[in-house]
Amino acid sequence: MAKPAISILWLKRDLRWQDHAALQSALQAGLPLLAIYLKEPTQWNQIQYSDRHWQFVWDSVAAMNEVLGQQKVHALSCEALEFFEACEQRFEIKGIYSHQEVGIQWTFDRDLALAEWCKKRNISWHEFPTFGVARGLRQRKYWLKNWYTNIHAPIEPLNMELCRTLLTTNPFPHWSAQAPELAQNLYQRGGIIRAHKVLDSFLLDRITVYARSISKPRESRRGCSRVSPHLAWGNLSVRQVFQHSRDLEVPGSKRNLKAFQDRLRWQSHFMQKFESEIEYEQVPINRGFIAVDATKKMDEEKFTAWKMGRTGVPLVDACMRCLDATGYLNFRMRAMVVSFYSQYLWLPWKPGADYLASLFTDFEPGIHYPQFQMQSGYTGVNTIRIYNPIKQSQDHDPKGIFLKEWIPELAQVPEEYIHEPWNIPPLQLAMENISLGDYPAVPIVDLSRARKHASDTLYATKKSKSAGVESKRILAKHTNPGRRER
Ligand SMILES: Cc1cc2nc3c(=O)[nH]c(=O)nc-3n(C[C@H](O)[C@H](O)[C@H](O)COP(=O)(O)OP(=O)(O)OC[C@H]3O[C@@H](n4cnc5c(N)ncnc54)[C@H](O)[C@@H]3O)c2cc1C
Repeated sequence: MAKPAISILWLKRDLRWQDHAALQSALQAGLPLLAIYLKEPTQWNQIQYSDRHWQFVWDSVAAMNEVLGQQKVHALSCEALEFFEACEQRFEIKGIYSHQEVGIQWTFDRDLALAEWCKKRNISWHEFPTFGVARGLRQRKYWLKNWYTNIHAPIEPLNMELCRTLLTTNPFPHWSAQAPELAQNLYQRGGIIRAHKVLDSFLLDRITVYARSISKPRESRRGCSRVSPHLAWGNLSVRQVFQHSRDLEVPGSKRNLKAFQDRLRWQSHFMQKFESEIEYEQVPINRGFIAVDATKKMDEEKFTAWKMGRTGVPLVDACMRCLDATGYLNFRMRAMVVSFYSQYLWLPWKPGADYLASLFTDFEPGIHYPQFQMQSGYTGVNTIRIYNPIKQSQDHDPKGIFLKEWIPELAQVPEEYIHEPWNIPPLQLAMENISLGDYPAVPIVDLSRARKHASDTLYATKKSKSAGVESKRILAKHTNPGRRER
């Protein structure tokens, strides 16, 4: 008996209905359509992936079904090749439709293996670019122009009724993925319904305080858009967000709106860098800095202190505890904790980058690895920034409200000492009966010495011949000729 013909929609980091080129194209084929998200065990065992990501993906699949009004998107737990083999035995696969994943090396290798598998069986795999990212791009001359053209291109409306008709039930119920088993938590939750609510509340209200809260660890949690996990897992496309922000008239927010839209462009810019040079995940992008990283030895005690928020530097510790508990930090605080890890603690960049990836609910490889390297001072083409965590604390949390929220051990510390509790005079400690519990009495590194060492080494390396040659290569590959990297 002939096998029934089907198309397969393979959802990855594009968990939405609208502005979905792969879905639109699959619908045009007019065949029964099996829509799946694959929770591949090997992928989800990679060091960067964690349960908070799975909670977000699970929510996202559930929301797609809720909007459809039917359970027609299936989260399955199995390896991709295993799944497609099983499909092939049961169906005649007329086409596989997906977006190109701008993922880690593991997903890239998996895609190569699957492409080979499809080729051998004469199965067409239709892959569509992720917004703003071109595969195989050799140079950036027209990238920006194309980005602006595409960001304004009209979004094709989706025929939801056709979706309801063509999407199929789950033929592999034994592979149904399990709901996340997480205790109640503060991580941002996923799905298209929440995504639109978050975006609307930002554009219609919170955007008015965007610029003034963006650098502050506490205020940014409300004042920034918080759309990042929805973009990272594809509940919203960058184009949807941009066009929504363009079409809503928000009085008095012109500058804030521009700052927000600029960042949407940076999102694509960073992802394009990563797509063009996936080595960002493994080695310093400026190979001249490989030797610097080799001088760093892993010190498990320091690494653990940083992870646990027990370095003795209040802002670093509050940020790390907050990130662990909530999955979010604003840009400046991310940069600051990276600077502390790579430059003050002088630890090798890769374990720190992988660890943070597992904590950020919005983990987006294309932004994360290039940003981690940039904030470590490893690109050779950006200004080297060594954040002073005390000054950051004084500037962005002057009263120590954020510090006390996340470090209860500092609850009794007077405001004037909150940024440097080790400076409280012993007499005052005794007279006022102030206890810091088991919080480190002094920072685990000498801050000024560590800063000087990092500064001397990074600037000397940046000036070296090998880093200079690499910088030229990086500029030629990742920036528009004639425009300097920001
Ligand atoms: C070490 C480090 C790692 C990072 N890792 C990630 C990551 O894994 N995923 C991620 O989405 N962002 C990452 N960022 C960038 C940035 O910190 C977050 O995008 C931002 O804090 C998310 O909050 P928001 O959505 O409220 O941002 P908003 O300020 O409201 O910005 C809107 C959107 O623009 C994009 N964006 C904002 N800032 C940047 C930036 N500097 N570079 C590129 N795109 C940007 C994001 O998609 C963001 O959602 C990282 C930054 C650093 C320093």
